[in-house]
Amino acid sequence: MMSEHTIHSNQIHEQGRQVLGDSRLQEAYRSSTLRLFTHRQAAVSEVPGFEQLRERARELKREIMDHLDFYLAQFAENVERRGGVVHWAESAEEARTVVTGIAARAGASEVVKAKTMVSEEIELNPALERAGIRPFETDLGEFIVQLSGERPAHIVAPAMHLTRHDVSDLFVRSMHSEPTEVPEQLTAIARRTLREKFARAGLGLSGANFAVAETGTVVLIENEGNIRFLTTAPRVHVALVGIEKLIPRLADLAVFLRLLGRSATGQKLTVYTSLLTGPRRPGEDGPEEMHVVLLDNGRIATLADEKMREMLYCIRCGACLNGCPVFRKIGGHAYGWVYSGPIGALVTPQLMGLQNARELPFASSLCGLCRDVCPVKINIPDLLLYLRGEVQERAPGPSPRGALLGERTLMRLWAWAMKRPRVYSFGSRLARWGQRLLARHGWIARVPMYPASGWTDGRDLPALAPKSFRERWKEIEKP
Ligand code: SF4
Repeated sequence: MMSEHTIHSNQIHEQGRQVLGDSRLQEAYRSSTLRLFTHRQAAVSEVPGFEQLRERARELKREIMDHLDFYLAQFAENVERRGGVVHWAESAEEARTVVTGIAARAGASEVVKAKTMVSEEIELNPALERAGIRPFETDLGEFIVQLSGERPAHIVAPAMHLTRHDVSDLFVRSMHSEPTEVPEQLTAIARRTLREKFARAGLGLSGANFAVAETGTVVLIENEGNIRFLTTAPRVHVALVGIEKLIPRLADLAVFLRLLGRSATGQKLTVYTSLLTGPRRPGEDGPEEMHVVLLDNGRIATLADEKMREMLYCIRCGACLNGCPVFRKIGGHAYGWVYSGPIGALVTPQLMGLQNARELPFASSLCGLCRDVCPVKINIPDLLLYLRGEVQERAPGPSPRGALLGERTLMRLWAWAMKRPRVYSFGSRLARWGQRLLARHGWIARVPMYPASGWTDGRDLPALAPKSFRERWKEIEKP
């Protein structure tokens, strides 16, 4: 599963701290997440029965995951019946080999790309470049992060971390354009650069928002029109599809479309919705060849985990990122890989290995907002808690604070004392006596020793009550 690219998910604390000290980044994340979140709130409040819609979407995803083998076979059969070619890729490496192979056979030296997180996940661009093929991102946000040499900062808004001023500077540096902070002018500069690429490229590459098993249709939604361009102008179209993107029937698409646009950007529907079923037929526009690459890369293993399989319901709307108090402060890059925010804290350990991302499940306040806004009702806090347990069991690491006593030992000691009332009572009396040096007005501002020192680094610790419950109970019981 692990590809050769870097993952820094275990440095989330250090990376997050750097972002907290950068007022420009703080403002960029604050304003963008707030805008998207507010738009979502307004959009969902207009839909009567939004809760039932979420429930229905969840049921449909459960149906797919319970019978994924059947629906995958049905989807593949229908793609091929309509003239498409299906490729199965078990790993990121296999997917890269398949795509570079298709591009080489098509004689394509340039590839125009839609925004696809799966392509980021498998590190496709470096692989294409190694094969002598130039990839061009055509989604505006992706185009910007490709120029700046960064990863997307958000699954829906890749350039969320950059201000208009940053983008203007970037365009001046890389395309020698006139400086401007007017969004329409910045868009026009990008469009001029990209237009010729669409016309020249031999291959267009997209992801898929949904893949309809009943018809073999790849569904793509967007606002800019670039996907429509790149799935029709080049001679070959390749759709990279994570196997969790399946939905059972075309009629079910209506449920997901009503949820996705509203949850992602607060739109009733995105500007363009493309339904692509096979390559062009006589008398039609479109590519001569259509290839669908179905990617596993750890998804089947997640499916086999009864608890974690719910994670595969995700439709990548980004709502949980926009609402998350942690994401809003530390942004996407601090998560150290492609997927960020609450869903990233689940996906990254699953796809990249628990050991490589063991800090991520702890990067949450467990406030539950992610669960409340999720259009498919994924119980993210519950899964994060489960993963925390898995980390302790299967991938324990050194404490980020360099603890003298391991947390595990401390917990064992705690459990031992809890089962012995006299020991517990003595311990709590000792702690109450000891805290006199530290407590002021019921709060402790700083504890010098781990693990409480980690807590007081960021907030105050409530002092122990002057009397224990048992002592107070005895007093109450007295006549
Ligand atoms: S977990 Fe839910 S809210 Fe978060 S991106 Fe996925 S579908 Fe959207």
